[in-house]
Amino acid sequence: MAEIIDGKALSASIKEDLAAEAKRYEESYGRKVGLAVVKVGHDGASEVYVRNKIAACEKVGVRSFAYELPEDESEEDLLALVDKLNDDEEVDGILVQLPLPAHLNEKKVLARIRPEKDADGFHVVNAGGLMLGLPCTKPCTPAGIIELIKSTGAKIAGKHAVVVGRSNIVGKPCAMLLLSENATVTICHSRTVDLASYTRQADILVAAVGIKQLIKGDMIKPGAIVIDVGMNRDNGKLYGDVDFGEAEKVASYITPVPGGVGPMTVTMLLKNTIESAFRCRKG
Ligand code: NDP
Repeated sequence: MAEIIDGKALSASIKEDLAAEAKRYEESYGRKVGLAVVKVGHDGASEVYVRNKIAACEKVGVRSFAYELPEDESEEDLLALVDKLNDDEEVDGILVQLPLPAHLNEKKVLARIRPEKDADGFHVVNAGGLMLGLPCTKPCTPAGIIELIKSTGAKIAGKHAVVVGRSNIVGKPCAMLLLSENATVTICHSRTVDLASYTRQADILVAAVGIKQLIKGDMIKPGAIVIDVGMNRDNGKLYGDVDFGEAEKVASYITPVPGGVGPMTVTMLLKNTIESAFRCRKG
């Protein structure tokens, strides 16, 4: 039976360190680290994510500035708010919760956030930095995935990591981070022919697809580390992209859903914000 990688526990322990760092910042500079969280409209899942992020800020002593904008907010006004937050000296990180309503251009809005304040690590400058191996803010979910894998004590270098999914916010950056840890990386996606033939080769398998229980037990290499990013709601219940019941019989380590990747995503957001705050002071 696989050992469970407890994302909640790991997240709680990292948050203790982050609280100490946030306190050190406040003592050094006379104000709290600040994170602005901008939500547009009433997407159900987004409401929960934003609430969790604000609660997490409070836990570690980061000040949150919450902006809840109406569904019909104009792009001009949203960009003006981003400009204001870019110039606000009390704000160290800015997060615009995705998805935005269809009339708003997500790319344009994300590009407007100053890269130094891009708490999510989605700005093109940070994405480019990740690609080139330059210092940058890393996207939260992939950064959390690396921490979860490392928490098992297993070495990443030399392992074959298979990432299923190639989105800009999870799959692609996760593959880049695994590569920078010297894994040999395969990326699979919706056009991959015979997915199982790849996943069966994975020492480390990351599933970031968005299809309930797509990855079955017979698609997993015995002893693999399995990271399930998926969050698929069905009849009020949350399911991962991995069939947990089957996978735990084959894998060596596995993240549960919920309680695996999710809590780490929020924790990495706080880490990014606190690091940004210190970096700005250093100039
Ligand atoms: P996207 O929908 O943006 O990307 C999904 C990816 O999966 C695409 O690259 C797509 O391929 C690929 N894909 C779709 N169908 C298949 C298939 N049958 N076989 C192989 N690959 C397939 O999703 P996200 O990356 O944003 O999110 C993925 C999942 O992770 C979702 O369930 C989401 O809710 C969850 N999530 C969880 C987070 C957390 O904190 N726990 C954070 C972010 C996301 P193609 O590119 O060809 O279309």
